[in-house]
Amino acid sequence: MQLTVARNRTDLVNARGQGEVALVPTMGALHEGHRSLIREARARAGHVVVSIFVNPLQFAPGEDFSRYPRTFDADLEVCRAEGVDVVFAPSAEDMYRPDRQVSVHAGRMGEIVEGASRPGHFDGVLTVVLKLFNLVQPDVAVFGQKDAQQLALIRRMVADLDLPVEIVGAPTVREADGLALSSRNRYLSADDRQAALILSRALRAGAVELTPSKIRAAAQAVLDEAGPALSVDYLALVDPGTFEEAGEAFKGEAVLAVAARVGATRLIDNVVLTLDG
Ligand code: AMP
Repeated sequence: MQLTVARNRTDLVNARGQGEVALVPTMGALHEGHRSLIREARARAGHVVVSIFVNPLQFAPGEDFSRYPRTFDADLEVCRAEGVDVVFAPSAEDMYRPDRQVSVHAGRMGEIVEGASRPGHFDGVLTVVLKLFNLVQPDVAVFGQKDAQQLALIRRMVADLDLPVEIVGAPTVREADGLALSSRNRYLSADDRQAALILSRALRAGAVELTPSKIRAAAQAVLDEAGPALSVDYLALVDPGTFEEAGEAFKGEAVLAVAARVGATRLIDNVVLTLDG
């Protein structure tokens, strides 16, 4: 099977496949986490499209857009090895008209937790994801639980705007020592990486507790052990459908999410837990 590289929307139309189509949107610098999404897509559809696009709209001025890792040739090898049918890698000029004005607004869920730290980020994410859905017209799209609030917002967009696509969430892939795989991990020095491990340790410490206050306290206690190498942005225990804080009486699935800066690198992680009172 041949991998087709579509560099613009005309190429993409020419590469359109038969039967069920699954889309895996990425920003490239592909790792095992992305591979697991591609395998999930492959299991669900005969035709798999991976998009590789570092979306300027979801980076604020001063964030890492210009230094975001770009490893296109290696990414193509990964896609070839995983039996991907089409890699869609448009330029920013091809994606965004210079006179564009209409975009997607994420609403309240886009403004809290991760959205409070990154104003406008989720509007940028939803706008590009909606455009990718319209361009690729997938039956299924696969997203990682690693970006739990993004996944929740995409599900919300699909429901609120009646988009004809099934959203599949895939579990977070981790290193053996617990560090969640991320394209940004390649920025980390050996010392940074050691400090970054505190995030997954904190989540594990929280996950064994049974009530919201104990979960938060146990995770916070681990974060408090971190030295100046780690600057915590937030620790939140939230309802996965809304990302509102879970109250003490909360029951059902909850997400314990954390974000922190390690040196110049901002990392996020989360675990899903069940509160049954
Ligand atoms: P990104 O390239 O970072 O925008 O991520 C593209 C997709 O891969 C998103 O749906 C992410 O949630 C997902 N992803 C990133 N890291 C992981 C991971 N460690 N495990 C599973 N999925 C991931």
